[in-house]
Amino acid sequence: MASPQRKRAFIGLGSNLADPDAQIHKAFAELGKLPHTRLLAQSSLYRSAPVGYADQPDFINAVAEIETGLEPHQLLEVLLDMEHRHGRVREFRNAPRILDLDILLYNDLACHERGLTLPHPRMHERAFVLQPLHEIAPHCVIDGHGPVADCLEKCADQRVDRICG
Ligand code: ADP
Ligand code: MG
Repeated sequence: MASPQRKRAFIGLGSNLADPDAQIHKAFAELGKLPHTRLLAQSSLYRSAPVGYADQPDFINAVAEIETGLEPHQLLEVLLDMEHRHGRVREFRNAPRILDLDILLYNDLACHERGLTLPHPRMHERAFVLQPLHEIAPHCVIDGHGPVADCLEKCADQRVDRICG
């Protein structure tokens, strides 16, 4: 049987517990090993202050570009499973986390379904997502919000530090 047609997707990674740099590096490698999936690019790691609930460590964030034969819901399922295997426990909204994996973009798909919204509904207003995304995909356009560079300009007040390549 022919393999399913592959799509391009961008995944946002975040961690602020249990050696965040190592969590992100490990997750990059695991993304490339998902079924029918290839890791095309990985951004540098970035440090940002927590959003929503301030009394927790800074976050390490990054973005990966993958090529995948998984459909969006299948991809979300394997990402949630990966979060779980890294030991993530869901406590409360904006709580500290060992690993957060979000589907930012999946081809140019726009979808508002229960449990899955694409493009990711908050990506356009978060410098910690936009900066690593801009690094690996400077010409990318976020459906409904425009070029990543324009979105990033609007977040100029948010501090994000590139920490390593
Ligand atoms: P957040 O990432 O917003 O801090 P969670 O990681 O706890 O929150 O995710 C909560 C839920 O968001 C997930 O169970 C998932 O069903 C849903 N969700 C909706 N759209 C997306 C998306 N594009 N990527 C990842 N999760 C999503
Ligand atoms: Mg998430």
